[in-house]
Amino acid sequence: MAERAGLTTLIESTEEGLIEPPTLHPEIDHNLCIGCTNCVAACPEQGSHSVLGMIKKKAHLIGPTNCIGHGACKAVCPVDAITLVFGTARRGIDIPLVNPDFETNVPGIFIAGELGGMGLIRNAVEQGKQAIQSIKKLVSKSHSNSLDVVIIGAGPAGFAASLAATDSGIRYSTVEQEELGGTVAHFPRRKMVMTQPAELPIVGKMRFKEVQKEALIDFWRNVEAKTGIEINYGESVQTIDASPNGGYRVKTNKQTYDTRSVLLAIGRRGTPRKLEVPGEELDKVVYRVIDATQYANQHVLVVGGGDSALEAATTIAAESGTTVTLSYRSGSFSRAKPKNRDLVQQMSEDGLLRVIFGSNVKSISDSHVEVDIEGVTESILNDAVVVSAGGILPSGFLRAIGINVETKWGTQ
Ligand SMILES: Cc1cc2nc3c(=O)[nH]c(=O)nc-3n(C[C@H](O)[C@H](O)[C@H](O)COP(=O)(O)OP(=O)(O)OC[C@H]3O[C@@H](n4cnc5c(N)ncnc54)[C@H](O)[C@@H]3O)c2cc1C
Repeated sequence: MAERAGLTTLIESTEEGLIEPPTLHPEIDHNLCIGCTNCVAACPEQGSHSVLGMIKKKAHLIGPTNCIGHGACKAVCPVDAITLVFGTARRGIDIPLVNPDFETNVPGIFIAGELGGMGLIRNAVEQGKQAIQSIKKLVSKSHSNSLDVVIIGAGPAGFAASLAATDSGIRYSTVEQEELGGTVAHFPRRKMVMTQPAELPIVGKMRFKEVQKEALIDFWRNVEAKTGIEINYGESVQTIDASPNGGYRVKTNKQTYDTRSVLLAIGRRGTPRKLEVPGEELDKVVYRVIDATQYANQHVLVVGGGDSALEAATTIAAESGTTVTLSYRSGSFSRAKPKNRDLVQQMSEDGLLRVIFGSNVKSISDSHVEVDIEGVTESILNDAVVVSAGGILPSGFLRAIGINVETKWGTQ
């Protein structure tokens, strides 16, 4: 029975194209695997998703995209059949090269957290703290007027680094383009977060092992308020260049910082692509749907033609009282999965969703959006805009700074 379920999940994942693990994941040597099922039982994500399963008495990664790299499977394998790897034989993963002090080949530029290849909150927290210890040694003799470090990102790595920087008394600024918590803030509503206890600077132990996403973010917000660490939200770093005064000049969409060093704690999710139209700065414009229920009884515009746009439009349209318009600049959803395309078609035939191909958003105001539809501008009543136009991955950003990046491939 469990075997059949494992095979069904693997077939479904493959048919839906969900075959590329986003981070560190197990490769299982089936010549060594003795089918003990310890790894399946040990996987902390197993309760909410299928990650590992048994097929023909051997363990398989049946839900590759659900694996987030806990590594618990490897630890319990009695015959060493599991290796943790990045990338697959089909898709390499770019990992920047750093030395044991977290410094890259560009002197004074450091990396902590998932961007460096290691997933998980606890690892990100540890690396954020340790990177600041290395930076502290580097800057202790500096007497210039510039900052000691600009920390980019306020996910677990950048948050822990900001606390460590406050604790060590170095001069820092933290910039975050979105909100506190990084990837954790974007977990689905009420996701159970599994984490090893970790030590935060100033506040001490973060004792959770299993905690709902909302409670963990609340805990971090409290720490932020109590310790007075300052994070400049809504600032996205655009370029990092050598400064004429030595060190670096970090330019964001709002200001410029001169700094002795930089800590990149930007994770691997990348930066959502923007529409670059007037009104995009309004609070009602978001780049991800966290909770579709918040849109009940609203007029919502979803922009994009990939799977995330189609999924956003259909989940919001399923909420009561919504009027959803899906705007896409091309003439078909050829990039999206058949399952999502079929659902959009069905919902639009049922009058639950309006699709406008060949359209471009021109501007956004409090109550309306102006959309150009093949040369004709239409004003559409609007309470919220969801932009799902893809993301810009960090690899290009790293290469532009001159950081050496290695593409890692798996064998399976
Ligand atoms: C669905 C899912 C479930 C997971 N579940 C768990 C779990 O249960 N337990 C666990 O331990 N781990 C889990 N993880 C992994 C964990 O979320 C990550 O390993 C961790 O968040 C990495 O932290 P980070 O600080 O390195 O990066 P992130 O959390 O990704 O934070 C990076 C921050 O940098 C900001 N940023 C990026 N670019 C810029 C820029 N140019 N300018 C300014 N700011 C920028 C981003 O907005 C973001 O806030 C999960 C991951 C996913 C996707």
